[in-house]
Amino acid sequence: MSHNPHDFDVIILGGGLVGATLALVLRQQQKRVLLIEKKWPQTDLSLLAQNWDARIYALNPANQALLAALGVWSPERAQAVTRMDVRGDQGGRIEFNAADLGVPCLNHMIENRYLLAGLWHAMLKAGVVIRESQASALTTTTQAAVLTLADGDRLSAALVVGADGAHSWLRQQLGIKVNASSYQQQGLVANFKTQKPHHGCAYQWFDQGDILAYLPLPEQQISIVWSTARATELQALPAEALASAVARQGDYALGELTLNTPVFAFDLVLRQPESIIAQRALLVGDAAHTVHPLAGQGVNLGLADVQYLGRLLANQPDVGSWALLKQYQRGRLFNVRAMQRGCDGLFKLFAREQIPAIPWLRNQGLNLVNHLTPVKNALMRQAMGL
Ligand SMILES: Cc1cc2nc3c(=O)[nH]c(=O)nc-3n(C[C@H](O)[C@H](O)[C@H](O)COP(=O)(O)OP(=O)(O)OC[C@H]3O[C@@H](n4cnc5c(N)ncnc54)[C@H](O)[C@@H]3O)c2cc1C
Repeated sequence: MSHNPHDFDVIILGGGLVGATLALVLRQQQKRVLLIEKKWPQTDLSLLAQNWDARIYALNPANQALLAALGVWSPERAQAVTRMDVRGDQGGRIEFNAADLGVPCLNHMIENRYLLAGLWHAMLKAGVVIRESQASALTTTTQAAVLTLADGDRLSAALVVGADGAHSWLRQQLGIKVNASSYQQQGLVANFKTQKPHHGCAYQWFDQGDILAYLPLPEQQISIVWSTARATELQALPAEALASAVARQGDYALGELTLNTPVFAFDLVLRQPESIIAQRALLVGDAAHTVHPLAGQGVNLGLADVQYLGRLLANQPDVGSWALLKQYQRGRLFNVRAMQRGCDGLFKLFAREQIPAIPWLRNQGLNLVNHLTPVKNALMRQAMGL
């Protein structure tokens, strides 16, 4: 790519999971990649291995394969999920089993922090140029994107990628409007030791708008995501009282619980930017979409953006050409919007109490799908990215 007149082929803004994975994928294609991240993450793996992060993702097999191909998959910090047990609020229930699908597991639970550290080590080794800085201005022409950094440096590339999260600075600079609708809930996350073994089963309970997930981790632990309007109140509880509330909400499926991490809460918002491309620029990950976490698809969608882009930009002489950008938008928007609509619909179905028949119907619906094996397996295959 030495004929390229720009400083870099691609500049990526934001080194979270999605930005860092994209940097590695593009670097494997011999592209000259600059990653700009405002805060260097903790990369000391032995320090991180001393405890467990409460931000956990259910990574689907397609994205696990991507990380394995990049050499950043750490099986010892991952938990295979072989069963999912989803319960409605009036006796509805649906179960998914890896054995029914003929696969060893449905997905893997992994920690944000440890995986991110592995990605950063790999980026440094692969020759991704990393700057701990922030951009202060962006200009684009039909030929190039030019970023000015906080220290005054000006750097050009054929393409600039916004992987700078839900509140993306790049998206704002590009003047892209976002349709955002709050779920009026927060996701409460924390890890617990469990009294009973989880045997690799992930549980989820729908309860009149609240959704609680138990996500299995190694060492007889679970991570929970409790989507609720009561997050502030729950977060303020002493550790034992919170553990009791979580155990009660989960029908004591794994017995009593013991809190073993700090408790975090994050706002649940559906975000749909009106576009994910602009001249010489595009968005990936949370900058391009956010979704209700009830199906654990947030990070999976972001890594699917990366997979798509990796294929699209391979062997292209001009990675920021308008034709390629339009193809990216066409290729991703349909799948992303379909997943957002699916999660939003499920959330609303279980949040709605006004119509008396709805609670009965939604629980019967779960039971019905549970007995329709082909439908159930098709749903699961889609969530697994197969
Ligand atoms: C507490 C918490 C728990 C979560 N739990 C779950 C869960 O259980 N399941 C799930 O699927 N999702 C969960 N999410 C959402 C999930 O973390 C995101 O979907 C995912 O991290 C998106 O990755 P990303 O790389 O696109 O963005 P981010 O992880 O947000 O990374 C963006 C990066 O860009 C950097 N950055 C931002 N602005 C700039 C700038 N101007 N210049 C340079 N760098 C910049 C940031 O420092 C950050 O490193 C959770 C989120 C939070 C906050």
